[in-house]
Amino acid sequence: MTNARALVYLITTVLFIYGVMRLRNPQQARSGNTLAAIGMLLALIATLVGVSIHRPLILVIGIVVGGVIGALSARLVRMTSMPQMVALFNGMGGGAAALVASGDVLRLVPHANAGAADLTVALLDILIGAVSFSGSLIAFAKLNEWMTGRPITYTGQRAINAIVFGILVLGGAYLIITGDAHQGGFFLAYALGAIVLGLLGVFPIGGGDMPVVISLLNSFTGLAVAATGFLLKNDVLIVAGTFVGASGAILTQLMSRAMNRSLGNIVFGAFGQIQTHGSAGAVDGTVQETHAEDVAILLSYASRVVIVPGYGLAVARAQQEVKELMNNLEAKGVDVRFGIHPVAGRMPGHMNVLLAEVDIPYQNLYDMDAINPDFPRTDVVLVVGANDVTNPDARNNPSSPIYGMPILNVDAAQRIIVLKRSMNPGFAGIDNPLYLNPKCQMLFGDAKQSLNQLLQALNEVVV
Ligand code: NDP
Repeated sequence: MTNARALVYLITTVLFIYGVMRLRNPQQARSGNTLAAIGMLLALIATLVGVSIHRPLILVIGIVVGGVIGALSARLVRMTSMPQMVALFNGMGGGAAALVASGDVLRLVPHANAGAADLTVALLDILIGAVSFSGSLIAFAKLNEWMTGRPITYTGQRAINAIVFGILVLGGAYLIITGDAHQGGFFLAYALGAIVLGLLGVFPIGGGDMPVVISLLNSFTGLAVAATGFLLKNDVLIVAGTFVGASGAILTQLMSRAMNRSLGNIVFGAFGQIQTHGSAGAVDGTVQETHAEDVAILLSYASRVVIVPGYGLAVARAQQEVKELMNNLEAKGVDVRFGIHPVAGRMPGHMNVLLAEVDIPYQNLYDMDAINPDFPRTDVVLVVGANDVTNPDARNNPSSPIYGMPILNVDAAQRIIVLKRSMNPGFAGIDNPLYLNPKCQMLFGDAKQSLNQLLQALNEVVV
């Protein structure tokens, strides 16, 4: 039985590795995901078959309830709510790892010869898992607007966080040295302290920075799961946890780099405040407004058009209209490409997922480095609900908070049309001088409505 189980775990590991490898390419990502899920199913079956389970009914109820909630929420969630769903699922993973480790501590410690190594791993597991659990719940609440998205800050915040962390380290050391965890109260205080540390750590981070924080907490959950694998001597948990830990860490680093901010600045900088102060006319200078009919004529006579989607496209849920626009223009012989910024939207791959949803061919999607050299020979750039990722201040203005962030150089194109509702700023809360560029015109309105008007106008243009 043990050999058969080891063999299944090996197959699972191969499926995980192969599945993750396929995630690198959008065309293969779906099958990669399915392969990894099959691997997980095999691992579950191999773990449960041939062992005597104390109360099988509880297990069955857990699997059914969890499975139904997971499947329903994945089917029903709106694309714009995806980051909070990931936060919630991640929190559950961290919480589960902490609970398994708690069971282990209570099992290990009453024995006089409890292994200090195992106990150390279990306490670390509880610390990381509980921080990930409570931190993810706050991230969820902030993103779901159940609490303010603004950073919650107060005097001495970092010192208090450091003190709580210090107490937890000392408390953990006490438990390991004395083996006193079975005196319930102290151990419970340790677990509660870890939960509080997660809450305190995420309070000062702004709602908009939550995707980066979720990615970091995801990495923590992976480490907690790997630690659980060591405790339970379960290879497949170690492999899966290490995967999640490493990929979460890499993703966090990539996101920070694409925003040109250090992880320290995101976690401790109280940046990413949700801005509400922007107003029409906040940018000084002349802003030129245009209308759907004029844009339709401009597009009809263009040879090369680049569409730059951003967070506003997700809010307006206008991906279908964007596809119809692409089809319409391509039928007129126009070359249509999409310029995708790595942090456009509010989660990694946000734009790719939206556009893939309506089957826009992958070969029409160009990432930032590939599309930037094309802008000077582009007749019209259509910026649909994107703002920060096109802000030339990131290139030209050293005093700008986003200075140094790589952007899509849309201002190099011949004409720029921006679809947004007002002059309000985007995530970074700063004005965009692109809108004062003489080559730029604003098509104000909800992106879905503007695109529908544009499509109607295009059908009336005779070239
Ligand atoms: P921005 O947040 O900069 O701008 C989005 C724009 O969309 C707003 O200015 C808004 O203007 C407009 N908008 C909103 N709703 C609509 C609508 N219904 N119709 C038309 N326009 C609309 O988005 P970008 O995608 O350009 O940039 C992403 C930002 O998010 C970057 O600063 C990035 O660093 C940050 N970020 C990204 C993460 C990621 O993983 N992708 C993670 C964390 C942060 P108006 O209100 O006038 O309509």
